[in-house]
Amino acid sequence: MAVDTSREAARAADAADPLADQRALFAIDESGPIYLDGNSLGRPPRATAGALADLVAEWTRDLIGGWGRWIDLPRVVGDEIGELVGAAPGEVAISDATTVNLYKLAVAACDANAGRSVIVGDAEDFPTVRYVLEGIAAARGAELRLLKSDPAEGLSVEEIVAALDDEVALVCVSGVNYRSGAVLDVAGVAAACRQVGTLLLLDCSHMAGAVPLDLDGAGVDLATGCSYKYLNGGPGAPAWLYVRAELQARLRQPVWGWWGQRDQFTMGPGYDPVEDIDRFLTGSAAVLGLTAVRAGIAPLRAVGMTALAEKGRALVALLAACSEERLSPLGARLASPSDPLRRGGHLAIAHPRARDAVSLLAARGLVVGDFRTPDVIRLAPVAIYTRHVDVVDAVGHVADVLAELGSTRS
Ligand SMILES: *Cc1c(COP(=O)(O)O)cnc(C)c1O
Repeated sequence: MAVDTSREAARAADAADPLADQRALFAIDESGPIYLDGNSLGRPPRATAGALADLVAEWTRDLIGGWGRWIDLPRVVGDEIGELVGAAPGEVAISDATTVNLYKLAVAACDANAGRSVIVGDAEDFPTVRYVLEGIAAARGAELRLLKSDPAEGLSVEEIVAALDDEVALVCVSGVNYRSGAVLDVAGVAAACRQVGTLLLLDCSHMAGAVPLDLDGAGVDLATGCSYKYLNGGPGAPAWLYVRAELQARLRQPVWGWWGQRDQFTMGPGYDPVEDIDRFLTGSAAVLGLTAVRAGIAPLRAVGMTALAEKGRALVALLAACSEERLSPLGARLASPSDPLRRGGHLAIAHPRARDAVSLLAARGLVVGDFRTPDVIRLAPVAIYTRHVDVVDAVGHVADVLAELGSTRS
């Protein structure tokens, strides 16, 4: 069905939007630019400032005694994120940065499959994923197979299957590609990995909070993702990690810290990790960050992933239709999957003047999107706080700026 790209239709869609009132839960300067970069840094919920002030008050009052409560936060908030990503209680914890979790989980997987010496990744993946795998492969003398795929369409199950054999210890890929927004067939890849006895580590940084995800149901072994994109946890918020329940006692991560230790406060002589998800913790919980993550995901948990994903799909479809209509005649082309069902929470629009367009849109206070090399404007209409009319207006601004810049590369 053709999408109506008129401003009137967008206004009507906003009036009928069951999530419309969620926007008021976020701190938004309505005179500011249209923000379509929540996939890089989500907006702050209004409640975050109060939650952080309360935490500082607790700290002031209770001092060291506060740890009696704070100590459980990595698992408590982990379970709350678990609701959004299809994990059972006890399978998710908050710890470290995504990069560090990728390292911990990838090494744990390689150690568990020690007889195998190949790691499979995606040549189009977010740099930190490739760098971490490159470092692990170098340290272990393992072979890193980085698969080439179409930058817009993303990796297919077939492309991954073609790279699998009984030498592969680990497949580490992203659920949604950071540039194109291409959604991986997670269940298909997990099944293929299982068939050859390899472990799957999924980076969900651009997936969690944006598209439906069922880590348990899909049969994913390990996952991690950041909390500051669609989860609104704030700059540098601690990341989450997932370890399938039956793997927890069997895997051992390489950073042997006291937060994974059995009877942590007996301060024993040697490392003897617990057998549950705490085994994947390292050092002291980032309590300030955890408090902000909890406030960041509260609105998402309240409305549920199904409603969020449904609105997200509608906004991305509207963005694609508006782009096709207004930006294609100006030399832009969609650099996201051709199949709408394989699109995540953001779209990539390729244009020779992408870099200048993104700068100009921000400098004029019109639209905040971002530029990704070589020629991509990335726009994310995040469901919880973006209106249909924002999408229509933003594409209008992009069109004006592209018309002004022309289509010759500067
Ligand atoms: C944003 C992002 C990260 C971020 O890693 P940090 O360690 O939190 O900086 C990692 N992986 C992917 C795929 C991302 O998109």
